[in-house]
This record gives sequence, structure tokens and C-alpha cells, in this order.
Amino acid sequence: MRLTRRRFVTTTAMAAGTVTFLPYMARAQMAEGDMFSTDAGDIAVHPIAHASFVMETPAGVIYVDPVGDPASYADLPAPDLILITHEHGDHYNADTLAALVGESTVMIANPAVHGMLSDDLKAKASAIANGESSEFNGVAIDAIPAYNTTEERKNFHPQGRDNGYVLSFDGFRVYISGDTEDIPEMRALENIDLAFLCMNLPFTMDVEQAASAVEEFKPTYVYPYHYRGRDGGTQDPQEFASLVGDATEVKMGDWYGG
Ligand code: ZN
Ligand code: ZN
Repeated sequence: MRLTRRRFVTTTAMAAGTVTFLPYMARAQMAEGDMFSTDAGDIAVHPIAHASFVMETPAGVIYVDPVGDPASYADLPAPDLILITHEHGDHYNADTLAALVGESTVMIANPAVHGMLSDDLKAKASAIANGESSEFNGVAIDAIPAYNTTEERKNFHPQGRDNGYVLSFDGFRVYISGDTEDIPEMRALENIDLAFLCMNLPFTMDVEQAASAVEEFKPTYVYPYHYRGRDGGTQDPQEFASLVGDATEVKMGDWYGG
């Protein structure tokens, strides 16, 4: 039961007035560290697991790569928008989507995933490819490339297929890396306030690559996510944090039920 986890504030903290809530934040208990201010209102980040998370935003509730047991999302508001980066099972699961998608939910996916959707889901979805843009309730959504550059990893995420996303809220830009290495398109990002950055091997990148990229595009905040792997491929988010310079604050989410 997520509400019992230590990262959520207690009623004592709420009574002490150390946490504020906005009307669109349906969830009563929220870690202050996972709240971010924009000109239009606050964004609350809820890590779910590995690559899946939920953001309550002024534009609506946004689910990113929701997979796994739909019960994991049961105490969160239903999605207004679902973003899908690519087809791998830790990012896209047709059964999870079918359970979560509501009457008014819309979805944005890369073209490959869009092509895999059932007719029911496809009717609610649009596809944007690398370099293309969309819009949701006044939030511009840009599809950023996500791909491997190391020769022996290129088959995992070939260039041109998968998406990262930049969401431009009023005065606040969020970058979601998807599965990628430290590609030039990431390093060239500007004015990113909050970033979600993948790291694991062999599928994405190591902490040195990830930290080096962060040093270059300098988001205000970064969550390392997607950092566990098989056979020694796990990357240490604390090591990542130690490598990232003072220009960026590293946020630790409870991605693995710890
Ligand atoms: Zn992947
Ligand atoms: Zn992945």
C-alpha cells in the first residue's frame, strides 16, 4: 500500500503547514520533495516503478509508460493523457493500458507503438515521430529522439524508432528521456527544469554517460530512473548524483519499492 511508505508526509507535517495542496491534486498525502512549481500551478511527481510514473499537473493527470499491475495506480487519479515512449515491455503493456484508459483519456505514442494498439486504444491515440510535436491542454509536447549510440547496443533502440518527450508547461519544461544514451539531441536541450533520465546496461547508458549529459544540458532537477538491470547492469543513482555538478539537483524517487 503506497500510502504507508515513508516518503509520504504524515498528517503531522500537513497540520504543521509544511505541505500545500492544490485542488487538482486528488491525493491527500504527497512528498514535498516531489512537488514542483510552475507559473500555472504545481506539478506533483509520483514514481510508480522503473520507467513508469504519474504527474499531476495544471493541464491534467499525465501517466508516462504505465505498465504492470493496474492496482499500482489505484490511489492516483485516472489519466487524462498517457505518453508512451516505445514498445519494450517495461514501457508498453497493452493489458495495463486497456485497464487504465478511461472515456476521456488520450494517448500519445511513437509510431511503432501506435501501430500495435488495439482499435479501441488507437481511436484515443495519436502518433508523433522524432522531431514532431503535439499539444495537450495548452502544453506543447515535442518528441525527442531516443536511441543507442554504442555499436553493440544499437539493436536495443535503433535510431528513429523511439521517443523521449519534452513537455512545455507555462514557465516549466519537463524532459522524459525514454531509453537512450547520451545522444547529441539530449545534450542540446535547453531550459529544462525537470528531467527523468534513464540509466542501465546494456540497454541504455551508464552513470558516467548520464552525468556527463546532465552537465551539458543542465536541468534544474533530475530524477535518475530506469536504473536497475540484469547481470551487473544496474547503475547506482547515488554514484550518478555524486558525478552531477552543482547546477542540477538530483531527486531520488522510490522506483523499486525500497
Ligand atoms: Zn527499451
Ligand atoms: Zn526500458
